[in-house]
Amino acid sequence: MKVLVASRNARKLEEMQRILAEHLQGVEVVGLDDVTPFEEPVEDQPTFEGNALLKARAGVAATGLPTIADDSGLCVDALNGMPGVLSARWSGPPKSDERNNQLLLAQLADVPDERRTAHFACAVALVRADGRELVVEGRMEGRVIREVRGTGGFGYDVLFVADEHPGRTTAELSREDKDAISHRGRALRELAPLVADFLA
Ligand code: IMP
Repeated sequence: MKVLVASRNARKLEEMQRILAEHLQGVEVVGLDDVTPFEEPVEDQPTFEGNALLKARAGVAATGLPTIADDSGLCVDALNGMPGVLSARWSGPPKSDERNNQLLLAQLADVPDERRTAHFACAVALVRADGRELVVEGRMEGRVIREVRGTGGFGYDVLFVADEHPGRTTAELSREDKDAISHRGRALRELAPLVADFLA
């Protein structure tokens, strides 16, 4: 039995393979580079769930394999939940984490510390060839600081301090420490024990 993870992000793929492997003996988890290339959909939905489903459905339609896809982003309370689903391209094309971070800092310049609360959100969708669908979501609560700090992670990690590790940004956490509390780690750990039943 094979499952496709519809992601080109090597780190996400590796993380999903590792977490799912604990629950899925005998199931091979493959990535987009392991299947015949197909046109990937534009992520134009207003919710993480909508975009995750869009990507998973496209994977099943193109390959016939049950497909897992995720969508994630940073939701800042003082910006009414933005950048949200627009996180990756918040400062416009071409995608740049550094410009996104500088824009976010500028937008929050006048926001006092007590109102800089935010959370990362992640939706993971699993879709079967017969159309059956499952979606789980995970969150990581925290706040946006005033200067970039740290060299690990990606995206907004250099600006985000999680409530569960208040002294460091998520870019200053080890991979294991971040995975243990992250939106994606939580969603994947919720999904993993459900996958075998869902595929059966
Ligand atoms: P996507 O889920 O690959 O579309 O990623 C959406 C965007 O959200 C990324 O490009 C990052 O800007 C942001 N993001 C999602 N998860 C994280 C995270 O764990 N740390 C930092 N930024 C993240």
